[in-house]
Amino acid sequence: MLRVVVLGAAAGGGVPQWNCGCEVCRAARGDQPELRSTQASIAFSADGAHWFLVNASPDLRQQLIATSQLHPKHGALRHTPIAGVILTNGEIDAVAGLLSMREGSPFAIYAHAKVLAILKSNSIFNVLGETNVKRIPIDIDRAFEPALPDGAPSGIEVEAFTVPGKGAWYLEGKAHPGGDDGAGDTLGLRIREKASAKHFYFIAACAHVTPELKARLDGAPLVFFDGTVWRDDELIAAGLGAKTGQGMGHISMSGNEGAIASLADLTIDRKIFLHINNSNPALLQGSKERKLAEGAGWQIGADGTEIVL
Ligand SMILES: [Zn+2]
Repeated sequence: MLRVVVLGAAAGGGVPQWNCGCEVCRAARGDQPELRSTQASIAFSADGAHWFLVNASPDLRQQLIATSQLHPKHGALRHTPIAGVILTNGEIDAVAGLLSMREGSPFAIYAHAKVLAILKSNSIFNVLGETNVKRIPIDIDRAFEPALPDGAPSGIEVEAFTVPGKGAWYLEGKAHPGGDDGAGDTLGLRIREKASAKHFYFIAACAHVTPELKARLDGAPLVFFDGTVWRDDELIAAGLGAKTGQGMGHISMSGNEGAIASLADLTIDRKIFLHINNSNPALLQGSKERKLAEGAGWQIGADGTEIVL
C-alpha cells in the first residue's frame, strides 16, 4: 500500500496569509475556519512506519502536530518517522521548514544539485549538520529509491522530471548559486511503490502543460497539480500584487491554456489541486469557480486528506 497524507494545500503565505485582507483570508479568520490551510507539502509511506516528505514548508511544525502518523513513536525519547525530505524546488515555501527539523534526528534531504547549491550557499541551513542530515543529489529522469535511516531500501521509487517553471523568487535577477544554466529548479515527481507498482504524481509548480507532460500523466491513478491561481491576472485584478501567475511560473486553473482544459482529455483517476493561493476563488465553498473545477473532475486540496493507493 502506498499511503499519502496532504500536510498542506496552500501556496506561499498559506490561508489566511499573515498580512492579507482578501475575501478568502478574511473568511478564513472569521466564520469559515475550514478554509484555513498550511503551505503545500505531502507525506508518503509504503510501510506506514517510515515516511518521506515532499518539501518542508514553513508550516511544518504545525503540520507535524496535526498528523499523528508523523509523531515520535510511543515510548521513545527522541524519534521521528520521517526518513527523508524530497525537495522539488528552492522556494521559501518548500525549504524553510527544514530549519524546524534541527535537533539531531537523522534524515536525508534529496534535491537537485541546483537546489542543494542554494542550501549550501545559505549558512543558516548548516544547523542541519552533515553527520545526521545527508544531502543527496537527485538526477532528472533517473529513478532512485530513498533509503530508510538504517540504510534499508524503502520500497519506494522516486523519479524526478523537469516541468516548465521558474527559479526561486529571491534569486530573480541574481546569480544562481547552482549556476544559471540548465533545468532543475522546478521538478515534478513520480512516486511509486515497487512491490505493487501503485504510483502518483506530484507537480505543485508548473507554468504550462507540454505534450510530454500530458503523455506522462495519461493513465495516472492520482495527480497532485499546481492550483496556485484561478486566472492568470488574479493578483493584479484583486489589487493584491503586480505579478501574473505566469510571471510566478504557475499555470492558471481556468482558461484555454489552463490546467483544467489542458488535462481534460487525459484519463486520470483522481486529480487534486495543491499549492492554492489565498487569492484563488475556487477555495470558497459554493463559488462558481469551485463548481467549475469540481464539475471538471478536480478536487480542491485540503490539509489532512489521506489517500491509500
Ligand atoms: Zn488573502
